[in-house]
Formats: sequence, structure tokens, C-alpha cells
Amino acid sequence: MPIHLLPPEVASQIAAGEVIERPASVVKELIENALDAGAAFISIQIKAAGRELIEVSDDGHGIPADELALAVERHATSKLSEAADLFRIRTLGFRGEALASIGSVSRLTLTSRPAQQPTGMRLRVEGGKAEPIQAVGAPVGTAVRVENLFFNVPARLKFLKTDPTERRLITALTARYALAYPQVRFHLRQDDQVILQTSGSGERREILAHLFDTATARQMLAVLSSESDLSVEGFISPPAVTRSHRRDMIFFVNGRPVQDAALAAALLRAYHTLLMVGRFPIAALFLTLPPEAVDVNVHPTKAEVRFRDADRLFGSLQNAVRRALMAHSPVPGLQLERSWEDRPLWSAASPTEKRPSAGDWPGTAGLPAPQQTTPAPTEAIPASASATPPQPGLARQAVPLLRLIGQIANAYLVAEGPDGLYLIDQHAAHERVLFERWLAQQPGEIAAQALLQPVTLELPGAAAQLLNEQLPLLSKLGFSVEAFGPRTFLIRAFPALFGQADPTAALRAVVEDFEEDETPLQAEREARLAARICKRLAVKAGQTLSPEEQRTLLQELEACQQPRTCPHGRPTMIHLSVDLLERQFGRRGPR
Ligand code: ADP
Ligand code: MG
Repeated sequence: MPIHLLPPEVASQIAAGEVIERPASVVKELIENALDAGAAFISIQIKAAGRELIEVSDDGHGIPADELALAVERHATSKLSEAADLFRIRTLGFRGEALASIGSVSRLTLTSRPAQQPTGMRLRVEGGKAEPIQAVGAPVGTAVRVENLFFNVPARLKFLKTDPTERRLITALTARYALAYPQVRFHLRQDDQVILQTSGSGERREILAHLFDTATARQMLAVLSSESDLSVEGFISPPAVTRSHRRDMIFFVNGRPVQDAALAAALLRAYHTLLMVGRFPIAALFLTLPPEAVDVNVHPTKAEVRFRDADRLFGSLQNAVRRALMAHSPVPGLQLERSWEDRPLWSAASPTEKRPSAGDWPGTAGLPAPQQTTPAPTEAIPASASATPPQPGLARQAVPLLRLIGQIANAYLVAEGPDGLYLIDQHAAHERVLFERWLAQQPGEIAAQALLQPVTLELPGAAAQLLNEQLPLLSKLGFSVEAFGPRTFLIRAFPALFGQADPTAALRAVVEDFEEDETPLQAEREARLAARICKRLAVKAGQTLSPEEQRTLLQELEACQQPRTCPHGRPTMIHLSVDLLERQFGRRGPR
């Protein structure tokens, strides 16, 4: 075939392919146009998962009659005029491509009426061909009707997922915009069912429940921080509430949903050691920075952006999240528990804890009734540790001086503090102590202790291969390990801070970590490795400790920076306040 220019319809279908991938992409573009038009109310109607109909109406400023035909032309926009504008974009759109793209792959009807115009004007486009404009009765604002999406691109239709999936994508997308723009009223109907409705009150928390479940939404912690021209706000989950995937980590930058691996990494770093391996937090974070500090013209759907001062942004994000987590890490008290007879056995613990209110009681809040016991409304909230040198805003968490009473069940230490009784999990506590000893060393300068007798360790083939690849990393961590045969290793030295512990157990923990590896950042990886070794080497439940050992453990825990949780985020201690005891013994009224 000789080289020739493609007919315009073909060219625009190719271009449309970049922006309009599925029904949810249409919804995204139309919502963004409505937001750019200053709408206070956006109504979205969907039929058959968007294949039959997508209609988005708004009460924004509308399109004047004489600009209507231009609105559906490619590269026609009212939001940008010169190249320099690209670096100070304050609108969601600017490429002038959405309406043209949608019009080339569907039957599009655009009806609009600016306030000063007596009637509405209507323009139809079918498969990229525009029909003459007509006057029609219409409210002020714009309505875009998209029928039979991809009717002329059957191949695209075949790539769509099942209707339930496409419907879910539309709902999730709409909920995200609703959360990002809480002062705008959103209304979403799918097949004549109201799926989502927001009040436009500006209150984000009420919208959270549309994105996550109600119980999760209630536990989310607020993040709010701003410094000069940069602000971070939104919600994050407490470390006890996690997912096995990253999909619920949502970021908006200047009102625009953004996928950014570095933002996600900064978030994860803030949770550092609070989450178990393979678990991810839930977050909806809204970052605001000067428009010239972000390049949004990187990706056709604008899902990716570039930051001018990325390090500062990530640092701020991390600190903001960190602060929210720290603010929320009391020593967990025993809070609620319900007996079979539906009678509270324990009431709220220390006076600093939030007392459960009637609304917190499952059953009265429209939540499923609890089984035998109900987790406290705010679960044991772990504190945090940091593998990096102390950061500003990362206050040391003190525990009061404790007087040891003894050990019970070979697993818990019992101690008295100024306000009641403390139960300490000896394993979790020891993990924390070991971990902080590790952190106290300079990275890369972990002191090694030579073993009198080298110890051998044999590993399965794949694990041995992994370990072989990571031997240099190990020497940085205070291990001296050599390959000694295809699957056998010789341990000559291991980190001094672990004292007399079993070196093979430590090395096995390391290998386990390599096996689960999810390509973390270097700093993250070392701390995670350390946490895992500490866990493996810490005293176990079931181990009898001498009174001397008990006392030492307690003192070492008191000296920790973050004594209230183990490096994996589980609590090291539970507090039974005098107040709680008095209530339980009937010395005071119930609540
Ligand atoms: P872009 O949003 O990138 O400018 P679009 O193709 O999405 O490109 O829209 C083209 C133009 O049509 C916009 O610049 C805007 O002027 C106008 N427009 C589109 N949708 C609306 C709307 N809902 N309300 C007012 N004007 C709109
Ligand atoms: Mg647009």
C-alpha cells in the first residue's frame, strides 16, 4: 500500500482509542467537563453498564450557541490558548479532545444553555458526523447524552468486561470525584436505580462510605496538613484496617485523580512497620500544590503527572500521614465486649479513650449485629517505628513507669502503672525491643559478632538461589554468610545485637522475606527484614522468663521510642485503667 493520509474518521477513531477505553472513561471526561464548567450539581444516568446510555447533566455555565459546533471538534477548547498555559493549568480538561473522541465512537447529543441565552441549543454527532444545530427548551447548563457507545468500533466492544464490572468501575469513579468535590452534589443512577447521591455539603466523611464500606469509613483517620503552598488532606486507614491490594490507595492532585507509584511509596513508607507484609492501607488523599509545580500533560487520560519538586511533595505526604497515625495510637484499652446476653462486660477504658456512644453500637447504627464479641470501635491502634533517623513530628511515645508484678500463662507480663494495670505481650514487647536496637545502629554499620563455630544451614533450591543473589546485602546487615555447596550456607557471623539467639533462625527469616519480596525500596526492605528477624528471634509465648528477665524486658520496653506496638503493628500492651476496674466492680455507675 502506498503511504496516504488517513481519512479524518479513521484518524479520530485512533485518537479516541487513547482517551475513551470504556464507558467509565466517558463518564470521567463528562464529569470533568461539568466540574470545569463550575457545576454545583452533576447528574449521571447509565443504562446497560453504559453501553446503551451515558448521560451527564450539569448546572454549569453552559456553551454559547455559536461555540457548540466547535466544542465537538478535535483540539477545540476554551481552557488553554498558548503553549505556556500548559504549565499553569487550573482546569481538569485542556486537550480539547474528549467530546470529539466520544462523538467519533458513539451517538452524541450535546444540549447546552448558558444563563444569558433564552433557549437551549442541541447538536447531534453520530460516528463523528455532526448534524445541524436546533433550538430546544432546556434548563441552564449542559447535558451530554452518549448512546450506543462503540457502535462503530465493534472490536472495542469485545474488550469490555462484564456488565457488573463496567458498572462497578463507573460507580467507583463517580464516588471518587464525589469525594474529591464534596461541595458539588452528585447523583448517579444506573438502570433507574439510585446508586450514589451526595449532599454537596462539603463534608467528605459522609461520602467515604460510598467508596469503602460503612464500617471502614467510620474508622478512617483524617489527614490534614498544609505548609506554605502545599496541602495534604483526606483520609487513611488505621493500621489495623488493611487490604491485600493497592487499589484502595487513591490520590488526587489538584483535583485530578492520579496514579503515581512514588506517591504510593511515600504513603507506604509512612506506615512503615505498622503493616504486615503484603498488606496495604486504604487512603484517599488530596494534594494541592501550585499548578506550575505539576506537569499534567504527560498522559492522554491525564492519569499520570510529573512533579517539579517531587522529594518535597513525598516528604510532606509522608509526614502528614505519619502525624495522623501517631495522633491515633493510644495504648489500647479494653473497650467493648458483649456477652451472650447482650450485656456489656467491659466498658470504655481510660478517660482519654473515646467512649463508645450509642451510635457506635453495632445494631443501632444499621450495621450487622455482632457475633459473640465486638471489636472495639477503634481497634488496637498500633503506633509506629521508623527506620530513618528521627523525623520532625515523630514524637517519642512514652509509657508510664511500670512496676512488674509477674508473668502469667508464660506469655504475658503483668505490671502496675500510675493508672491501673498493664498486660504486656512478652513476644511483641521483645520484638519491639530488638527492633529498636537494630534501628539505633547506623544503616550499613550493623555490628557483627563472629560465631565460635560456624553454623551450616541447608535450604531448598529456590531459596538457596535467592539467598545467593542477596549475599552482599546480608553483609551490610551484619551477617557473614558464604555459600558452602549448592544449597548449603555457612554462617560465620551475625548481628551482635541478637546476642545468643539462633543464627539459623535469623537467616531463615531473611530468606522468607526474600521469598515474599515485592520490590520494596532499599530502606524499606532493610527495615522490613530487620522486623522479620526480630520477630523470629524474640522470646515466644510459652517461654518461662525468670523474674530478672521479666524486669529487664519491661525496662527495655519502657526505653523504646515506640513501646506500644511491635514492629508489625500489633499492640505490645493492654491497659486496664483504675476507672475501668471501678466500673466493673460496681464501685461507680456504668457510664
Ligand atoms: P477540554 O475539556 O479538554 O477543553 P472537551 O472536548 O472535553 O475538551 O470539551 C471541549 C470544550 O467544550 C470545553 O473546552 C468547554 O469549553 C466545552 N464544554 C464541554 N463540556 C462542557 C460542559 N459540561 N459545560 C460547559 N462547557 C463545556
Ligand atoms: Mg474535557
